[in-house]
Amino acid sequence: MRVLLVGGGGREHALALGLVGDPGVSAVVAAPGNPGIASVAELRAVTPTDPAAVAALAVETAADLVVIGPEAPLVAGVADAVRAKGIAVFGPSGAAAQLEGSKAFAKDVMTAAGVPTARAYVCTDEESTARALDEFGAPYVVKDDGLAAGKGVVVTDDRAAALAHANECGRVVVEEFLDGPEVSLFVVTDGEAALPLLPAQDFKRLGDGDTGPNTGGMGAYAPLAWAPSGLVDEVMRDVVHPTLAEMRRRGTPFAGLLYVGLAITAAGPRVIEFNARFGDPETQVVLALLETPLGGLLHAAATGTLAEHPPLRWRDGSAVTVVLASAGYPAAPRTGDVITGAEGPGIIHAGTARRASDGALLSAGGRVLCGTATGADLAAARDAAYALVDGVELAGSQHRTDIATAAIEDRITIPG
Ligand code: AMP
Repeated sequence: MRVLLVGGGGREHALALGLVGDPGVSAVVAAPGNPGIASVAELRAVTPTDPAAVAALAVETAADLVVIGPEAPLVAGVADAVRAKGIAVFGPSGAAAQLEGSKAFAKDVMTAAGVPTARAYVCTDEESTARALDEFGAPYVVKDDGLAAGKGVVVTDDRAAALAHANECGRVVVEEFLDGPEVSLFVVTDGEAALPLLPAQDFKRLGDGDTGPNTGGMGAYAPLAWAPSGLVDEVMRDVVHPTLAEMRRRGTPFAGLLYVGLAITAAGPRVIEFNARFGDPETQVVLALLETPLGGLLHAAATGTLAEHPPLRWRDGSAVTVVLASAGYPAAPRTGDVITGAEGPGIIHAGTARRASDGALLSAGGRVLCGTATGADLAAARDAAYALVDGVELAGSQHRTDIATAAIEDRITIPG
């Protein structure tokens, strides 16, 4: 099986490693890829959000399967264009990707499907926003309705800051604050059958102790020893299958990766958000533990044959990933700094580039790379991931020092 992988971040580097490790995959072409992916796959240039260009590249590279990593191409309808060429694609249609593309649409589907989530209002003017903020009280949660790479959400006790964010965005979802530890659950689905992957936890805030601004994610670990037993079954029953049924009922079945972001509250799991693709950086840890060949799994989801797929197999132990971000991230990431020590196994590239003149590795984005490691237990995996990151030199870089620490120290508590 020949695979075309669309995207060029850390998630795609992790997907590329998973795909090349599948004996059923003969070749991986990545577009546009990145310098890390270049060590395992052929790179081709493409604008990932251009449906016609990606579809043409899929034909040209004789792809049997196209895997679309990021959300923007999905929302732009790239999966539709590839499917129209008769090529199997892992990733939802543009219409189904609205589960991520619009927070208001996602809330509407959740309400129709009876999915447990935060109460919310869609607001377009200051008066209705103020009313919603006052009804729910602090901490205030204000979400940009459109795609914002995980950075469109403000959670704050400062009412004026909440209002200012709403004004900047225009159309927002204001919702009640959900109190409890967060879980990311990835579900592979062909629209009807659905297989959950291992739950993971990521770290959205920039600073240790969950301080500072929201980011795309600063680290992750799996599995979650502290998660309530039966959590995955409950989420599949109460969230995933009702959502998939509602999407089928609307004539826009969701096939691909349904990312369920949850808060484990005193009242049980509540959906914080849906995404229409693998999460970054949780993908790095979940795929590090997946023993089942990745290409075959994604192909089954892409071809409506997931019901016949064997149960997933997982490696023993734990995985941790620690993100190294550039100076100024997330507000104003600085790029163009030289990176050293980033060539070894376990370093997943995200925002890196090669300098044309001498091939030096440079920072080229906010989240630059991450160190991903497995270990017999969470502490061993954490230590190994930090050893990888500590071996990288990048001027002004930032990373959290507490990834997985609360779980290792058994300090994660579910309210109530
Ligand atoms: P989202 O893009 O919707 O995942 O939001 C980004 C982050 O904001 C989440 O991972 C949470 O940490 C936080 N967040 C979003 N919605 C809520 C909520 N209703 N209650 C508490 N925290 C939230």
